[in-house]
Amino acid sequence: MSTTTDTSTSMTDARQDPGPETAPPSILGPGTLLGERPAMRIGDRWVTTEETRDVENPATGAVLTAVPEATQEHVDEVLAAAAAAQKEWARRTLGERAEVIGAVIREVDRHAEELARIVVAEQGKTIVEARGEIGGVKAFFDHAFAQRYRQVGEVVAAAGRQEQLLVREEPHGVVVAIIPWNFPAAIFARKVGPALMAGNAIVLKPSEVTPLAPLALARVCELAGVPAGLVNVVTGVGRTVGKALVEHPTTAMVTVTGSTRAGREILAQTAEKIIPVSLELGGKAPFIVFPDADVELAARLAVEARLWNCGQVCTCNERTYVHRDVHDAFVARVTELMREVHVGDPLDEASQMGPKVSGPEWEKVKGFVDRAVEQGAEVALGGGRPEGDEYASGHWFAPTVLTGVRNDMEIVQNEVFGPVLPVVPFDSYDEVVEYANSTVYGLTAYVFTQDVRTAMRATDDLEFGEVYVNKIGPEEVQGFHTGWKMSGLGGDDGQHGYERYVRRKTVYLGYGD
Ligand code: NAD
Repeated sequence: MSTTTDTSTSMTDARQDPGPETAPPSILGPGTLLGERPAMRIGDRWVTTEETRDVENPATGAVLTAVPEATQEHVDEVLAAAAAAQKEWARRTLGERAEVIGAVIREVDRHAEELARIVVAEQGKTIVEARGEIGGVKAFFDHAFAQRYRQVGEVVAAAGRQEQLLVREEPHGVVVAIIPWNFPAAIFARKVGPALMAGNAIVLKPSEVTPLAPLALARVCELAGVPAGLVNVVTGVGRTVGKALVEHPTTAMVTVTGSTRAGREILAQTAEKIIPVSLELGGKAPFIVFPDADVELAARLAVEARLWNCGQVCTCNERTYVHRDVHDAFVARVTELMREVHVGDPLDEASQMGPKVSGPEWEKVKGFVDRAVEQGAEVALGGGRPEGDEYASGHWFAPTVLTGVRNDMEIVQNEVFGPVLPVVPFDSYDEVVEYANSTVYGLTAYVFTQDVRTAMRATDDLEFGEVYVNKIGPEEVQGFHTGWKMSGLGGDDGQHGYERYVRRKTVYLGYGD
């Protein structure tokens, strides 16, 4: 956790916010952040379009509202507005920028419950998780704020007398951020915070599925007094609007969180212009339970790390490897724990898991499970839609445990992103390290053992950017959430993440006669 307890670093941890005592705020209508009709934020304008895209409530399948569909003209306009605003912003001191970011944090606080409800409405995570996500929004801005006293360059020994050789940090200019649907609020802050603090303007394109929280946060920035043009949000399809933003001549840096497929396409789009790209992509976290592990702890945390946000977190436990000595006890306990999970209305404070985000995502997960069964896996629990009238509409998927799974099965090799826990037995250290390293992903890995030598050997041998030993995430803002292999290039968090948002200028200064 971060240095203070009231700004949780977590995207999913809700402990700091008990929720409101008064009537819950609405998410649409007069006086709300989104107003009656959600609009894009372009410079100092709120823009609607004739052509719109529906936004669905995943818990019911009902249409909530519709958002604009940006055109090439909007892309040109937004990037021009951002470029104009950035020039003045870059001249401000870090202290001046931090004052603005501090105002954003206070404004997020003022609207925290409304923001959490927007996240629930469009994304489907539980209200408890959504409040944790808004805690994460504040924590990401808090980390950006904390850069006000950073060291902004170096003085290197110059070759000549009466000379100085300075290596300075400078902003890139206009940053384009492309974000996914699983944390529409937290990932907004994860990118806007460091981009702004470093002196950039930002144009953010949310996921087609969850545009509302980013639009609401753009309004929060306006209310906080962020100068117009610095934080812009345009909505539309990745391969059209996203691509147009990325390829535009004004765009000086691109930061993406999304699937490996999208990351690869965007990397190719930027090659022509040779601009920096930060990619936080998919994951396939192995969760390794060695024979000397605390099985109860491992089982509880395996379930928790699998079911966060209905299994839709890049750090989720995607494949559980259990030593054969403890396999049966572990499977029995995990199945029992998964059975007890209360799946239900995400606005109900008692619910522990909500629905999948969309119909296509539900179908994708179901397809993985069905094909695993065809390949010989056994369903120990769940397997599809839970039984009961309350789950008849919306995208509900039951907590699912699969046994008899082999490492070469598709469900172990590809990112599932759903509440499905496949268990693969192993016999030796070398075998499980080979299994864990066998996918194209390298984001997060979990290791459970009481032997420090095994823990450290595994940490050395695992080809992942992030290793948790005897604990699970979420990751902390001051760390560095970075994927290896096809999980990405870069990351936004901590000092290393901040450095993605600056470029360097070397100054040779002579002051001799
Ligand atoms: P996605 O790749 O389908 O979409 C992400 C964003 O990219 C969307 O805004 C989309 O419109 C845009 N996009 C897609 N193709 C594009 C293109 N060719 N050009 C420009 N923009 C394009 O991902 P998703 O389904 O929204 O999110 C889930 C994925 O995100 C999972 O793979 C998950 O692991 C990953 N994720 C990674 C992290 C991380 O920190 N590594 C965090 C959260 C989510």
